[in-house]
Amino acid sequence: MKILVVGGAGYIGSHMVKLLAQQGCKVTVFDNLSFGHVDAVLHGALVVGDLADTQALDALFSTHDFDVVMHFASSILVGESVQNPAKYYRNNVANTQNLLDTMVKYDVKKFIFSSTAAIFGEPQYTPIDEVHPKLPINPYGRSKWMVEQILEDYDRAYALKSICLRYFNACGADPDGKLGERHDPETHLIPLVLQAAAGKRDNITVFGQDYGTPDGTCIRDYIHIVDLCQAHWLGIQHLSNYNQSKRYNLGNGDGFSVQQVIDVCKLVTGKDISVLCGERREGDPAILVADASLAVSELAWKPRYVKLEEIVSHAWQWELKGKDD
Ligand code: UDP
Repeated sequence: MKILVVGGAGYIGSHMVKLLAQQGCKVTVFDNLSFGHVDAVLHGALVVGDLADTQALDALFSTHDFDVVMHFASSILVGESVQNPAKYYRNNVANTQNLLDTMVKYDVKKFIFSSTAAIFGEPQYTPIDEVHPKLPINPYGRSKWMVEQILEDYDRAYALKSICLRYFNACGADPDGKLGERHDPETHLIPLVLQAAAGKRDNITVFGQDYGTPDGTCIRDYIHIVDLCQAHWLGIQHLSNYNQSKRYNLGNGDGFSVQQVIDVCKLVTGKDISVLCGERREGDPAILVADASLAVSELAWKPRYVKLEEIVSHAWQWELKGKDD
């Protein structure tokens, strides 16, 4: 199978490329390297280009014959999306439309899309299943929900079939130690706590300790990057077998509080971590946990690294490598 991975030099995309190569796929990565890293592309060919550049997309699709397109390239910072919505609607919506229009033009009709739990907004119940109301509360979440809606219309009009995967908290690293999280700036909890454990930052600030949860800190659903990528691979099989558009929530279905994450990080690293109490972060719901039973039943998805200790120890192994540029 010939697969285009847009954003394949980034955190999730690079782990996906590794899995696709293991499955014997021929991979082409398209990435503008704004956040990705050349040395994270362990397999396949890297084409450096931007989704805003429709000529580059034409050149790519006219010289390749892709079976499936996977799209991981997007802006992901909630706070920034509130300050600069134009960037989010351009990068995440308009540029995605360039990609979809090029697919239609070259008759490539299978698409896997990185969506997010942020499309649901403030949870109305927990765990969150696929039919939960979609009421995103920031431009980031809205941009992803818009693409999901565009995809419904493109299916109806152009028979472009898609699988949208709504990630809860993607985390962890390649168990072989070859890949991991390298965001700049890093905003995610686990890498930040581990940077504090490694002495790269002085402390970790807990954003709010007065939530209505058992220890007062926010509860999230942390899903290992390898399990997340495995769900994408199963999504590709599903598209190939049934040629049907579907949407799935991806998480462990198990919630861990910020305090629990910090405690596990202390245990795994054996380091003392200085913890500060901070204000709540705007837009953070108290509890975000996935009901991923649809992915489990329809895709036969079986998350393998469900223990927080395993997730953190893979991330720690990566942190110790020190690749943070
Ligand atoms: N968090 C925190 N301190 C930090 C970063 C994150 O307390 O320095 C909390 C955040 O408020 C949320 C959880 O950790 O409750 C996970 O945040 P992250 O940014 O990793 O993912 P999100 O849930 O926002 O997608």
